[in-house]
Amino acid sequence: MAAPSATSRRGNLMQKLASPSAKSKGKIRRRGRLFQEVILKQIRLLVLFALAIFVIAIFKVGLPGALQPTLRLITPTIGFNLSESQVDIKMNELYDAIEFKDLDGGAWKQGWNVQYTGNEWDKHKLRVFVVPHSHNDPGWLRTVEEYYQERSRRILSTIVQALKKDKERKFIWEEMSYLERWWRDASEAEKRDFLTLVKNGQLEIVGGGWVMNDEANSHYYAIIEQITEGNLWLKDTVGVVPRNAWAIDPFGHSPTMAYLLRRMGFDNMLIQRTHYEVKKILAQKQNLEFIWRQSWDNFNTTDIFCHMMPFYSYDIPHTCGPEPAICCQFDFWRLPGFGSALRCPWRYDPQQITIENVQERSETLLDQYRKKATLYKTNTLLVPLGDDFRYITIAEADLQFENYQKIFNYINTHPKLKAEVQFGTLQDYFTAVKDEIDARKGKVKVPSLSGDFFTYADRVQDYWSGYYVSRPFYKSVDRILEETLRAADVLSSLSLAYCQAMGQGHFPLSISEKLTAARRTLALFQHHDGITGTAKNHVVVDYARKMHSALLDLQEFMAKGVGVLLGRDGSQGMCRDADLDIFIPEKEQRSHDVLPVRRLADVVSDHVQRLVIYNPLEEEVKQVVMVLVERTDVCVLGADWEPIVSQVSPEWGNTREMATGKHRLHWQVQVPPLGLQTFFISTSEASHSCKAAEVAQIEVFHATDSFSCPSPYKCTHTAEKVEIQSQHITLAFSVQDGLLQGWKNQRTSMEASLQEDIAFYSSRGSGAYLFKPLGEASSMVSPGGLIIVTKGSLMQEVLSHPKSIWSPSPASRRARVYNGVDTVQGYIAEMVYHVELLDNVYNDKELIVRFKTDLDTGNTFFTDLNGFQTVSRETREKIPLQGNYYPMPSLAFLQEPKGRRFSIHSRQALGVASLKSGALEVMLDRRLTRDDDRGLGQGVLDNRPMDVTFHLLLEGNISSLPRIAASTPRVPSLLSHLVLSQLSYPMHTFFAKAENVTDAHRSRLQKTFAPLAMKFPCDLHIVSMKVAKPLDDLSSRATKKASYALTLQRRGWDHSYCRRGQMQCSRFSDKPISLSDVFGELQISTSVLSSLNLLHDASKDIGQVEPSGRKQGGGFRESKGLISMAPMEIQSMKLDLSLDKESLSLQAG
Ligand SMILES: [Zn+2]
Repeated sequence: MAAPSATSRRGNLMQKLASPSAKSKGKIRRRGRLFQEVILKQIRLLVLFALAIFVIAIFKVGLPGALQPTLRLITPTIGFNLSESQVDIKMNELYDAIEFKDLDGGAWKQGWNVQYTGNEWDKHKLRVFVVPHSHNDPGWLRTVEEYYQERSRRILSTIVQALKKDKERKFIWEEMSYLERWWRDASEAEKRDFLTLVKNGQLEIVGGGWVMNDEANSHYYAIIEQITEGNLWLKDTVGVVPRNAWAIDPFGHSPTMAYLLRRMGFDNMLIQRTHYEVKKILAQKQNLEFIWRQSWDNFNTTDIFCHMMPFYSYDIPHTCGPEPAICCQFDFWRLPGFGSALRCPWRYDPQQITIENVQERSETLLDQYRKKATLYKTNTLLVPLGDDFRYITIAEADLQFENYQKIFNYINTHPKLKAEVQFGTLQDYFTAVKDEIDARKGKVKVPSLSGDFFTYADRVQDYWSGYYVSRPFYKSVDRILEETLRAADVLSSLSLAYCQAMGQGHFPLSISEKLTAARRTLALFQHHDGITGTAKNHVVVDYARKMHSALLDLQEFMAKGVGVLLGRDGSQGMCRDADLDIFIPEKEQRSHDVLPVRRLADVVSDHVQRLVIYNPLEEEVKQVVMVLVERTDVCVLGADWEPIVSQVSPEWGNTREMATGKHRLHWQVQVPPLGLQTFFISTSEASHSCKAAEVAQIEVFHATDSFSCPSPYKCTHTAEKVEIQSQHITLAFSVQDGLLQGWKNQRTSMEASLQEDIAFYSSRGSGAYLFKPLGEASSMVSPGGLIIVTKGSLMQEVLSHPKSIWSPSPASRRARVYNGVDTVQGYIAEMVYHVELLDNVYNDKELIVRFKTDLDTGNTFFTDLNGFQTVSRETREKIPLQGNYYPMPSLAFLQEPKGRRFSIHSRQALGVASLKSGALEVMLDRRLTRDDDRGLGQGVLDNRPMDVTFHLLLEGNISSLPRIAASTPRVPSLLSHLVLSQLSYPMHTFFAKAENVTDAHRSRLQKTFAPLAMKFPCDLHIVSMKVAKPLDDLSSRATKKASYALTLQRRGWDHSYCRRGQMQCSRFSDKPISLSDVFGELQISTSVLSSLNLLHDASKDIGQVEPSGRKQGGGFRESKGLISMAPMEIQSMKLDLSLDKESLSLQAG
């Protein structure tokens, strides 16, 4: 039976005769920073001294009442403003140096004619590690289950069988999603063999994440979850802790991965898909191996050794050396007549290795190895040997292993060849290369590097920036699943602690399997063909169905968790599943491919609707919220039955037919951190204390005959200007088309012109991966569109149905301001774009929104990486438009040299560019008929109706500090962090099911749940809080204590954009806080610091250094309960939370 031939994501690089590239760029200048360094050293010394005094004082005096370990968070005063790390290579500067001429390098088309003299290995022979691998996408052209059944299952069995035959054979495996699946099907003997092979070093698990995640669109929360899920399974089942990461297929690489891997205890990482010009310039100086350092890391604690592969692809033609026509001949699966349909496209076929040809074949292959070795500093060489879904049959595996072994035997027994070649794992390679570096005592200088590897181009003008946006609907579902999983995890932790205090751990445990399933679904979607939107239609549907079902489970669980924490009526016994059918989520997820629908609050004349709002954030949230109601004579009551000011306004539909007949009820809430707050919605007749909702005013522009003013609202058609305002900001819009024109901050009188436009690119070469526009974008808006302005005291909105070259218009836009008291929301403009690129008239169109401001920003702008950090971007003329697009997982901003800053916070991943000074554009959706020749074999025509939500913020620099150096990393302000965190982690509303809320009933109800005893500082974020190992740990310890995992991040933020007193919050550096104090009645009985994947308890494994040592500043330090955490750091810890019954009864009372 012929094995299915693997389809690779590669095109055909046409091979031409050699023409060596002439240009060799000079070494990256290391600017004179001597003075700066001296100053820094002084500051470091001072900080160390102060810390030492503090620590000594604590040791002497002791911790107050520290009978049990107390987690205290103290802070070193470093990082007041983050400064830039010192490195040999900065990617920004490297980009300045590259000419992007795509010179023809000959046989190595994107490089040069590589030469060697032959005496390079006289002293130290060349050591080659050939690393067999098989790249298994968990979904791409087939669904993950289809791939598993057809290929991966057989591949894993083949690997075990093939390695058993010969101890010399090695293999590496990456994806735990497949291994876990195989483990369920494998025989006991197969599993035993697998474990033996891992133990004896023949088989290495690399990365060990659930998938090999995308690095552009993925959020750091999801990356941590996906790697941790894979790593925990691996440790529990195989007993292995991975040390080397392997990312050969993600389309561009992010330093966030380097940081997270370092803090997970990884020693080394490997990357492949970087711009071909970047590969070339690094190779010219033998800088393809480097220490990847975070740009904000002044203490070198984030350093991780990184190997970048030099050539076009990870397949066999592009891994043995620079000449694919030769390397392909050593892919023995392409031997004609052996069942594979795959052939070498460079004319020459592989040949079986025989006694007759072994010398010639060995020397030919060794020539490639030697050429490749000249691109690296050491005599140790890595040669991956594999491709997509390879080693599917034992015949295929034997073909590769046996032929290679013959070559190895020949080379290794001919000393004059001065080489030693063997199969190896990634660990074998990295150990050897580091041993060599050590042995050559300082003669091999591995450069340090900071920055990222976006935007990836694999050939000519083919930039992979389309996938930042492809299938944006599912990118938004991804974030909804993330925030819902995080919220459910927090609720499950709290419910478990409370239920266990009552001796009833059953409820939270009963859902642990569903939590795990949801986590694995989120993990799966982080795959580089999942969240990227680069899979076939039916595979996208498969991911979407899984996410939909996970969302339903999580919502149902949360509704029950609310029941646990508030109880039915304050009585005991609330941890039994059957008793928890009290609440339903306000948002209904009807199907995998539509936006969630809001349920109506059930308000009839004699019925009061109870609802509970859950705040999953660590900060108290004050916010104007909304539910849909069927009538306008409604009112809102607080937990203690006091009336609350509210506003009703019509709900406008997304089509021009307008009012849906439902009404939006807005009011302001205040919900405790990680807590719950109850509200009641009633009618004026049902409760006398009620204060009727204010009815909004409506202004309409350019209405057609079909527009009718919904009752009981009054619609005016006479207004002359379109303007909405809150107490902080005023937004002005064009009367012609309803698009935003200006922004004014009331209190500071700061203004900005802000010309919004909705425009589109036409393309002929764009596909799921590539963005290849024909010229610049054209505006789709013309004057005369319908504009509806809703004005009330709590919320004001401008809905614009712009007139466009298409009818109906593919996009409408709602701009809102909120006018709550003391809210973060009050400072932002909420922009919601409803996009429907559903019709074929939009074929090969890519829709954007553009903000042209009067900020003088030149060609510089800022984007985030994985929601974790921000980087500065330069728009470069030498790179085509599509190469100047960058990932925007959550944030982009413009900043004047010393003044205004304009930020776009996004709820989902998209692509962004700043093509002109002061302008920022974000792509909203793309509809493409063509395949872009990267193996997918289709366009992107499965667009869904969707909403893209941005929160815009205009801030002024209030810094009285001396001018901050240009190289200072720009980070969000504290306000910007809070805006993003409220946008990304929204509150969840739950309706009580039909019940009769009588006075007596009401007084028995528990209405508030507030687990934290004190506030978190504003710059400290709970990344996640969960039951660490729900499946194994708890079933055996059901009634005992559970182990929780808490992950915190100390945000890095820009002090020059923070107005003291603007927000009611303290900062981490203001005063130390104790987690025990924060959690109040939830006692932290034990605590252990941990790596981010929860596998290492020792801090030395994850790059964190004792402050008493020479380095300081990275991560946490734990000593007698004292912990410090530097800005930007993320830290996990394992805790036991417990609650005594006494405080429980107090709570109920
Ligand atoms: Zn892949």
